[in-house]
Amino acid sequence: MKIAILTIGNELLNGRTADTNSSFIARELTALGFRIEALMSVGDEFDAIKTRLHDLLAITDAVICTGGLGPTADDITTEAVARAFERKLVMNESVLAGLKEKFARYRLAWTDNNAKQALFPDGADVIDNPVGSAAGFALPVGGKLVFVIPGVPAETRRMLPEGVIPVLRRHFGRDSEHIFKQTIKTFGLPEAAVDAKLADVNFAALGVSVGFYPVFPENHVVLTARAASADEARMKVTKATQEVASRLEDYIFSYGEKTLEETLGEILTERKITIAVAESCTGGLIASRLTDVSGSSVYFERGVVTYSNRAKIELLGVPPEIIEKHGAVSEQTAKAMAEGVRQMAKTNIGLSSTGIAGPSGGTKEKPVGTVYIALADGNQTTCRHFAFRWDRRRNKLVSSEAALMLLLNDLQGKP
Ligand code: ATP
Ligand code: MG
Repeated sequence: MKIAILTIGNELLNGRTADTNSSFIARELTALGFRIEALMSVGDEFDAIKTRLHDLLAITDAVICTGGLGPTADDITTEAVARAFERKLVMNESVLAGLKEKFARYRLAWTDNNAKQALFPDGADVIDNPVGSAAGFALPVGGKLVFVIPGVPAETRRMLPEGVIPVLRRHFGRDSEHIFKQTIKTFGLPEAAVDAKLADVNFAALGVSVGFYPVFPENHVVLTARAASADEARMKVTKATQEVASRLEDYIFSYGEKTLEETLGEILTERKITIAVAESCTGGLIASRLTDVSGSSVYFERGVVTYSNRAKIELLGVPPEIIEKHGAVSEQTAKAMAEGVRQMAKTNIGLSSTGIAGPSGGTKEKPVGTVYIALADGNQTTCRHFAFRWDRRRNKLVSSEAALMLLLNDLQGKP
């Protein structure tokens, strides 16, 4: 079963948008054993879409298109597909009613151009959009299939597994096959290093396909197995998971969809450990992430953002001489912050961050991206130094991740 991906949109051709849909779709389908024959992008133009569709369909069994399903005049994909295969456009009354109902619910004024999103080529099956307004469709064309889903990446991510893949499997008689998937989330190794560490695992021999998904600042490894029975598929993935676990152990924080903060929440709750946070360069991000977890009030006592030296001295009791001698961005200050907030809050653990997020404020000895994360747990106070190299926003994010990972390692008794 050969498949082509056609992403549609002028913004893809002029470079304003990077085509992330193609790589996402390609990875998902490859993991399921489909072969991707070609990836292509095309502008919002009738003739170009028609020509590319015919070219691609000539060499494949199915073409998956994304983009150009919006209500405005520049979104022409549906009509272009209809013209390409000489189909009439037919109004789908139930999609139309659904659109009107959505507009009413959100108190938006209905304008008639929106009805365009209820038009589909004759013979197409509608693909629901659970996260947006534009429905997609699957159009059978002489034993082959043309899929069209919206270009918004979040919508593609939902509609591919929910609306496209089941139809593909059914159409190509693969729905008797069982699929088992396992996500393994890691932090602390670049994608290439993750890849290198797994280089000696023979995934093919295990009957498992492996995909790498960087989700900044994390790297997710996804294992997928296909088999005649659900048990067999699960067993293959379990074996491969053990191989991955033994090689990436220290960097793994979740088997499955759980986030780092959710993993921490479970451990802190179960072990009745409380935590307080003192943040400088992360500006409250660590506290925000810890409190993203429902039920976090059980373990999260307080978080203070102490950006100025005065705040560090007044609110955390950091000795002024430490700041004077070593600077606000230093191991000594980070440790004093962690110990200070722990004492003030009377928690089991104090966690702190101090650093230079950039782009200004760097010096020769302490360049932008210099970050110290400290953790005080009553027995000892540990501190780690990092040299990040991203922009301000990502430096803050990766610093919060490093802090949460340090906390996890401490809870797990790892160095
Ligand atoms: P909508 O109903 O939201 O308009 P649509 O199908 O018309 O859906 P587009 O208008 O083509 O989608 O694109 C919507 C957004 O998705 C834009 O911000 C666009 O840059 C982005 N986008 C489109 N195609 C891709 C792609 N292949 N990869 C990543 N982003 C994309
Ligand atoms: Mg578009």
